[in-house]
Amino acid sequence: MDTQSQVVERLRTVFSSGITIPEQFRRTQLTKLMSMIKDNEEEILNALHKDLAKPKFEAILSEVDIVINELHYAIANFANWMKAEYVSKTLATRLDDCFIRREPLGVVLIIGPWNYPLQLLLLPLVGAIAAGNCVVIKPSEVSAATDRLIAELIPKYLSQDCYAVVRGGAEETKALLQNRFDRIFYTGKSFQDGSDPVTAASVHLTPVTLELGGKCPCFIYGRVNIAAAARRLAWAKFFNAGQSCVAPDYVLCSPATRDALLPALRETLEEFYSKEPQTCPDLSRIVSPRHWTRLMDLLGRSSGKVVVGGESNQEDKYIAPTVVVDVAEDDALMQEEIFGPILPILTVESLEKGIELINRKEKPLALYVFSDESSVVNTVLEKTSSGGFCSNDGIIYMTLPSLPFGGVGASGWGSYHGRWGFEEFSHRRACMLRGWALERLNGLRYPPYREDKLSW
Ligand code: NAD
Repeated sequence: MDTQSQVVERLRTVFSSGITIPEQFRRTQLTKLMSMIKDNEEEILNALHKDLAKPKFEAILSEVDIVINELHYAIANFANWMKAEYVSKTLATRLDDCFIRREPLGVVLIIGPWNYPLQLLLLPLVGAIAAGNCVVIKPSEVSAATDRLIAELIPKYLSQDCYAVVRGGAEETKALLQNRFDRIFYTGKSFQDGSDPVTAASVHLTPVTLELGGKCPCFIYGRVNIAAAARRLAWAKFFNAGQSCVAPDYVLCSPATRDALLPALRETLEEFYSKEPQTCPDLSRIVSPRHWTRLMDLLGRSSGKVVVGGESNQEDKYIAPTVVVDVAEDDALMQEEIFGPILPILTVESLEKGIELINRKEKPLALYVFSDESSVVNTVLEKTSSGGFCSNDGIIYMTLPSLPFGGVGASGWGSYHGRWGFEEFSHRRACMLRGWALERLNGLRYPPYREDKLSW
């Protein structure tokens, strides 16, 4: 078996041969990727169930269909994205061909996380293939069944010359990062030992895309349809048992809204997951005992009051959908991204105070505002910053391939989905093709320099 560096070198040689450049080659690979998912849907769903007890419905929506939709969108559009983009010209360049040419970067590395182990590897892969790159794909070892399946399927469907899966955990990933890539696309956050991809990439001056996380607020303010708000909030929060980078991390609202929201949330959660959520097949499990312990520890350190849920079972890696009130800004639940089925509710006195609280924290990946009042929505939109923004719903904005998906500041660098993924894996080469015309006009810039030449 090739070592990691042999894999990268092999792909580099293949890339130099130009095989990934023709549109038809890219189209074939994208179509094969589509077949891979369609032919193996059952195995994919089983693997996701093994890793996270992912309900079939959620897995189809957020892992299978989202990738299929991205593929349809890319296959329909990437030939247009590849076309030269002609730009406006000046008088001195009016006879020239001035355009931007999208070129593949070369050999790129995609490192994926465990929470949506298929989607978060394959969506960037679609952009990387459409842009004409060779790709090293590193699935998360934490979602072991999906990791194994991806490593088995990719070589069966995609060109083995151009795309390689490398498996392993933190140590293998750190070693992999020692190699030179032309872009590193990293989704996750579990590098807190100074071995982050950015430091590794800086040695080779490799550009890095970082799809990170953070604490996504859900600010409920002013007039609001409480029943609908409770359903949309609960769905976005407890989908995948809260293990979504764009899940609402905490709720901000007035005391009166909290009092109205709580019974609505209780009713919704019972409707969604029954009186006995542990027996409900529609609720995922926490990915590993380590992550379960982290969440229970976080809940244990909170001085808030659990008003819904709170039950757990270590063996089953189960945590009930849990709502916590009386949570202060310095509470344990407010210090890190929760990434699990625990929803703290904080109260604020006014719209301004809520905005101030949001702005005291790092810029989140997503920000949600629930309100019937457009002035509230617009004020929050204008006075805050986040990777994405959605009013009166959660998560759903990221399913639209025409919107860029990514963070800002501490929630990430760069974006993808649809054309944005293609762009992230392309170099925009500035091209000016000139002839020999207008040489007298050009003469104005040659020595001997005279003041009057400047004022022409
Ligand atoms: P993870 O533990 O699966 O790690 C992600 C990847 O990094 C894995 O492939 C893993 O092997 C590798 N890795 C682990 N330790 C490493 C190290 N020291 N150096 C280099 N690579 C290493 O996933 P995670 O980090 O727990 O993912 C959860 C986090 O990711 C959350 O914070 C979440 O918000 C974020 N996330 C962001 C997005 C997004 O699109 N922005 C999507 C999903 C998850």
